[in-house]
Amino acid sequence: MNIDKKASVVAYAALPDSCLKQLQQHFDVADFTGQSGLRRNPAFAAALAQAQGVIGSGLAFDRALIASAPQLKVVSTVTVGYDNYDIAALGERGILLCNTPDVLTESVADLSLALMLTSARRVVELGSRVAAGDWKRPVDSADFGSDVYGKTLGIVGMGRIGMSVARRAHLGFGMRVLYHSRHAKPDADREFGAQHCALDDLLAQSDFVCVLVPLSADTEHLIGAAQFARMKRSAFLINVARGKVVDEQAMIAALKAEQIAGAGLDVFEREPLPADSGLLGLRNVVLLPHIGSATHQTRLAMAQLATSNLIDALNGRKPRAMVNSDCWPLRV
Ligand code: NAP
Repeated sequence: MNIDKKASVVAYAALPDSCLKQLQQHFDVADFTGQSGLRRNPAFAAALAQAQGVIGSGLAFDRALIASAPQLKVVSTVTVGYDNYDIAALGERGILLCNTPDVLTESVADLSLALMLTSARRVVELGSRVAAGDWKRPVDSADFGSDVYGKTLGIVGMGRIGMSVARRAHLGFGMRVLYHSRHAKPDADREFGAQHCALDDLLAQSDFVCVLVPLSADTEHLIGAAQFARMKRSAFLINVARGKVVDEQAMIAALKAEQIAGAGLDVFEREPLPADSGLLGLRNVVLLPHIGSATHQTRLAMAQLATSNLIDALNGRKPRAMVNSDCWPLRV
């Protein structure tokens, strides 16, 4: 790469000014931050056609979009999940994809626990009653929730976030932890007495099923009608991973039939959640607008990591976090 001439970079989605300024010191930056409708924006298409690097999140980098960026060398996503990127199409061109693991792990684990507690203790449902001025009588058994402390948690996808959820659940809430992953995790067994098991066994035994696998061809609709049928009627499903890991229609049916007790959801098959979603109006769901990593500290740390990934990679230094590390070093 010719380092005498500044590389062209396209920035989109939310990036703090400090990161934009840092990028501008290294690159010619086409700034589309805060803009929507990018796929229909001719200026964005023109910038992409010239770009060696892109940084952002929330845009599906499919084969067609990648083909429209013939100079592209590095994509830096401000997310840990990379289901929005066609890895095969990137790999064929030797385009490096960088992401933001680790820096968001604890915040997402916090939110997973928040959804467990909120669902089981009916915090939103009962709190809304107070906020509406409708606290007319003491609660009775019809309003009671379920305990979290001492119950069994099943983690589907024992990776970075799964481990942090297990730590909180076991050490903080005295929970027994089961997990399902393709590989056993000796650290989880040692630190939290966590038990590696088949998905069906996890579903049958857990009071909370917490989904934390990445979305992939293998995990799409991993939790569907057959899996809901295996869960306890008293169990809660928590999804903080990706909406498509759960078959949403099957989940709605299971919730309506009270085949499970409830669900705490941060992610959905379609986001933002459509106004006609069958999830709206159900009593036994807690619905959040995809806020797993959305704290001031964590979003800043993610933006900083994505920024340094892009600066490092385009300047020939190995970036801290790579998804397809077989594309490093960059092809010139
Ligand atoms: P990670 O460290 O890669 O952990 C994912 C784990 O899932 C891996 O350890 C893997 O273990 C397991 N896994 C993968 N495919 C599987 C399969 N087919 N069956 C069973 N287990 C499988 O990722 P992470 O950093 O914990 O993040 C997890 C996911 O959370 C991300 O991919 C993202 O989609 C989601 N996320 C959501 C938010 C939010 O705002 N809601 C924020 C951050 C992340 P094995 O290899 O042993 O199977």
